[in-house]
Amino acid sequence: MKIFRPRTFLNLLVLGFIMVSLPLGVGLWTTLKFIDQLSDTGLEVVDHAVSGTRESELLAEHLRNEERTLRLYSITTEKEYLKQTEDYHAQIDTLLFQLLRLPLRTNVHSTIDEMRQARNVQRTTIISARDGTIKGDPQTEITKAIDSFEEQQNQVQDIRAGIQEMMEREITGLKTTTEEAQRTLVSQTGTFILATVFMIIVMTFLLSWPVRQLNKSVERLGNGDFKTPVLVSGPLDIEVLGEKLDWLRVRLEALEQEKAKFLAHISHELKTPLSSIREGAALLNEGLVGELSHKQEAVTSILINNSVLLQDLIENIINFNMAQLKKESKESNKLINLKSLIEKVAQAQTTKIIGRNINLDIKLQNVLICGNQKELEAIFENLFSNAAKYSPPGGTIGCRLSSDQKKAACIIYDSGPGIPKEESEKIFKPFYQVETHVHSVVKGSGLGLAIVYEYVTHLGGSIRVLNPGEPGARFGITLPINNVEIENQAKTYENS
Ligand code: ADP
Repeated sequence: MKIFRPRTFLNLLVLGFIMVSLPLGVGLWTTLKFIDQLSDTGLEVVDHAVSGTRESELLAEHLRNEERTLRLYSITTEKEYLKQTEDYHAQIDTLLFQLLRLPLRTNVHSTIDEMRQARNVQRTTIISARDGTIKGDPQTEITKAIDSFEEQQNQVQDIRAGIQEMMEREITGLKTTTEEAQRTLVSQTGTFILATVFMIIVMTFLLSWPVRQLNKSVERLGNGDFKTPVLVSGPLDIEVLGEKLDWLRVRLEALEQEKAKFLAHISHELKTPLSSIREGAALLNEGLVGELSHKQEAVTSILINNSVLLQDLIENIINFNMAQLKKESKESNKLINLKSLIEKVAQAQTTKIIGRNINLDIKLQNVLICGNQKELEAIFENLFSNAAKYSPPGGTIGCRLSSDQKKAACIIYDSGPGIPKEESEKIFKPFYQVETHVHSVVKGSGLGLAIVYEYVTHLGGSIRVLNPGEPGARFGITLPINNVEIENQAKTYENS
């Protein structure tokens, strides 16, 4: 089945407007239909009431006139009165016929029929009186016809009462229909509002989904993740945009690889001549190629110190490059006792702080994790070396290690100046150094924490400054503990 997909974002927007206004349109249409129906019924009720009232009044009036003219005829025997009687008779018959089309009760219809039958008899008498063909005594027959008016007056009263009942019935019916319509409209309006809200939610999702996907992809690219492909689904033009973004990702990935290769190559090429310079300077400094004056010794010391700094920097660049490339795959992971690893690294650092009277305060729980030994060592070496670098003589460097079912938590702290609040995230970026520390006696490359960050995230953990803006930096690291992986590693270890 082919799913309909709008060609452009604009099409999707227009579709959204249509979808959202659709329930409102249907709601409006049904409301108008209801109002139309109600007004039709109302008009019908009014029509019945008006014509019923008018016809019943005319009926009573014509009947009175008919009786009066027939009585006058019976007294005067003037044919003119007979003719008038006939005219009224015809008009009453028409009225009775018209009344039959009203929605009156069956008993009222029967009364009208009965009245029409009685009037037919009366009519025969009047016509034969006019033609002179009346059977029996004319006066007696006319008197009989006059007498039948009394019964007809009663029947007219019944008909009027029937019309009154019809009006009341129809008005009550109209009221009930109006109330029902009101109820239906309220529930329909509720349904249409719900449908509109639902449509708004669906369309908001459909409109924002591709934008969110693009946003996430751009964020991933910005964070240096060039591996995850850019997948954007939605209108065709946005999908094309997604494809272009993916093309950009591939280009950036290639450039990143080239940059890393280039850096690795340059660093490697720099290392060899640098170690020759360092060795040469050391030979000179030790006087192996002849006695040096004090000034010459000072110059060779500068040469040695700076070549050591340069070598550290190159090492860091190589490490950072490795960290970014994530050369070490998960396959090289092994079971590592984090406590022993940290103790070993801290021990190595103590040799560097001898003579500065710095205390070590290390309290570690036994924690096993699965990870890459080199990466873990690099993490703690950099953190301890920074702590040592920035702690003043007489200060303390501390470390705590604990764990729960899912993660290991480690805190490393020192007595240095701490990390300014606004810098607490920036310090993990490559080559970033806190302005106030740059001019201090401590020399650095600004790569140590960037390497730590790369390795920690590679291991699936996180790192942050726990006390930004306060003296004595405290770094908190969490590393995931994958129990299944640990068990597998333990088995492999036992079997080997
Ligand atoms: P560097 O080689 O300059 O130490 P890092 O990446 O290790 O590079 O650290 C980046 C910056 O973070 C450092 O320049 C320093 O200003 C700050 N920093 C890192 N660790 C500490 C610490 N323990 N105490 C105070 N500042 C620190």
